[in-house]
Amino acid sequence: MKLSGGELLKEFDVAAAKENIGSEVEISACVHKVRQMSEFAFVVFRTGRHLIQSVYSADECEDSLDGIKEGCYVKAVGEVKADNRASHGFELILRKISLLSSPKDDYPLTVSHKKLGCSLDVNLDLRSVALRNPYERAIFKLQEGVTAGFRNFMMENGFTEIHSPKIVASGAEGGANIFSLDYFGKEAYLAQSPQFYKQTAVAFFDRVFEVAPVYRAEHHSTSRHLNEYIGLDFEMGFINDMYDVMNMETAMLKFMLAYLEEHYKQELDILKVELPVINAIPSVTFLEAIDIVSGGKGGRNKFDLDPDDEIALCKYAEKEFGSEFIFVTHFPSAKRPFYVMDDKEDSRVAYSFDLLFRGLEITTGGQRIHDYNEQVAKMQSMGLDPEEFASYLDIHKYGMPPHGGLGLGLERLVMKLVGLKNIRMASMFPRDINRLEP
Ligand code: ATP
Ligand code: MG
Repeated sequence: MKLSGGELLKEFDVAAAKENIGSEVEISACVHKVRQMSEFAFVVFRTGRHLIQSVYSADECEDSLDGIKEGCYVKAVGEVKADNRASHGFELILRKISLLSSPKDDYPLTVSHKKLGCSLDVNLDLRSVALRNPYERAIFKLQEGVTAGFRNFMMENGFTEIHSPKIVASGAEGGANIFSLDYFGKEAYLAQSPQFYKQTAVAFFDRVFEVAPVYRAEHHSTSRHLNEYIGLDFEMGFINDMYDVMNMETAMLKFMLAYLEEHYKQELDILKVELPVINAIPSVTFLEAIDIVSGGKGGRNKFDLDPDDEIALCKYAEKEFGSEFIFVTHFPSAKRPFYVMDDKEDSRVAYSFDLLFRGLEITTGGQRIHDYNEQVAKMQSMGLDPEEFASYLDIHKYGMPPHGGLGLGLERLVMKLVGLKNIRMASMFPRDINRLEP
């Protein structure tokens, strides 16, 4: 018999090594690069987050370097030597090195280059190799920082984290972009958003958030749509109006950016990210937005913003307010889902907003209908049968506070933070109309 509870397996601690110049440390890592010089060799190790430079010479090391090449996983012992040219201010003088595992084949990509320099398709086809490249990997480390910043802010502000089902009986967002599946002989769908469930949870938690996959059957291939993306969603009760939701998002983004700056400096450097600065985010109504993008010509019978409008509005916000973000509010009700509350003064527009960042919509949010009769009437006016939404309507039937919330696309935010041209680069294993593997 064996009992668990022993000492934890440690990972290489860069900060501790730096503090202990002259001491010997142990490192388990992948051999990222070997550079053979005449008398010695540079061996660069890749740990889960860092590149650590070491120097091998036959008279300093007990073991030989034979058979140790790029892609091997090794365990080594080295003496920490201060060196300002090395990336962490030190290098390791190798004393021991042993092979743990060696690859069958060489990498098909130049993993050790700063950037891969291959096409998007090759990168995505060879994802398991491409992600070993420090630049590619840093995108997803930064993604971790974005979700951690979001989660920490939410929890500090009284939001409860929830996990809603992704196999559902009906779509929440309408439209044709919904995946259906056979659920023991019944038709079911993949959730287009956690909308119904996060609203439901407001009735008992007041404030909730979720970080989870969202499924959209996008029938076209674009640089900003995936079929599966991660939604950062929140929903909050007792709001006065949608501006309370927008204020919460503004504060959350400020917190998240500060969080990245504090904990992800290394990745921000690798990716050469210029973090945006947020003071206050300007906000225009949809009608004002149309005026801005059409140079005052207005009209054009528009119900939504198209990609060019989003770019133009961000240029405007940058020029007029020095802001890389802009809110657009009061969208036409016609193109917004049935749960959205209409403006009390003018039912043609809704208490619904988008947040644009660097030329792209990253969020849609707004105030939701909380009153049962109002929700039933809205469904009927949109030609929907309330009977079909009976279980959703239970939340209205048994009461809930005025509330609102939003959904933010994780990959879109990371894409724009890093300046990636295609959203696929911000998804570890993207799903698009042509891609189900790897
Ligand atoms: P778009 O009009 O750009 O297609 P949408 O308005 O249909 O997006 P929403 O239903 O408002 O999308 O979803 C909320 C957020 O989720 C969006 O603002 C966006 O950040 C993200 N998002 C939506 N669809 C996708 C997708 N297919 N791939 C990646 N992110 C998405
Ligand atoms: Mg939207």
